[in-house]
Amino acid sequence: MTYTALLSLAILRDDFLRLDRVGLLDFIRSCQRTDGSFSTVPGSNEMDLRSLYCAFAISAMLNDWSAVNTDRAITYIASCRTYEGGYGQAPFCEAQGGTTYTAIASLFLVPRDSATSPLTSAERELTIQWLLSNFHASGGFSGRTGKDADACYCFWCGATLQILGAGDLVDKRALAKFMVECQFKYGGIAKAPGENPDPYHTYLSLAALSIYSPASVMNPDNINTASWILDPLDPLLNARQDTAQWARRYIPATSQGRDA
Ligand SMILES: [Zn+2]
Repeated sequence: MTYTALLSLAILRDDFLRLDRVGLLDFIRSCQRTDGSFSTVPGSNEMDLRSLYCAFAISAMLNDWSAVNTDRAITYIASCRTYEGGYGQAPFCEAQGGTTYTAIASLFLVPRDSATSPLTSAERELTIQWLLSNFHASGGFSGRTGKDADACYCFWCGATLQILGAGDLVDKRALAKFMVECQFKYGGIAKAPGENPDPYHTYLSLAALSIYSPASVMNPDNINTASWILDPLDPLLNARQDTAQWARRYIPATSQGRDA
């Protein structure tokens, strides 16, 4: 909730003058558990990689990592990695596209020397291969091995490939055609063709299209390309680039960058 609230305020171009940054850092600190994972609220046993990602995204927006034990958190992320190259929501869970996104995005949100990578080249390669193995001829991604394609995974898997520098391996035209087929005749986008639309799948489909804009590669057979041109997305924060820049500029405690 805190992560989405901060981004929602950034979308509204709030100046964040009333943001209780000290309280925010205390809250994040109190959510981290001894194994490095994060609970949804302090003291709760309810935890998975989504909470960890939110804590990392908030730290990135604050440009302040003092509330996070990153070494422990990164060790926890590694413990969620599976033999397939994806990540489960907790140790020993099946690899899933959504939690793989939260794991990889978290690893790449941590400030680091530009010459270093949070994954070995073998790990990166295996993760890319697993994500691509979930890409279907229909243009959609499935979230787990052997499952049907689902529009939301076009973002979860597609954004992860983009973060890993493998976005050029995604067939943008096929992905956009899948989205067209998932589009409901009265508006909105469903998880699969013929299903009912909902805001979750509609948003994530548009987010995927923002990363994989079909405009430059698509010959408009039956697709109105003009309506699919969307502003580029920051795949790490899952927000439009201009919103992510606003957040990174105005949420940090110092006035650094505000006059840039
Ligand atoms: Zn879905």
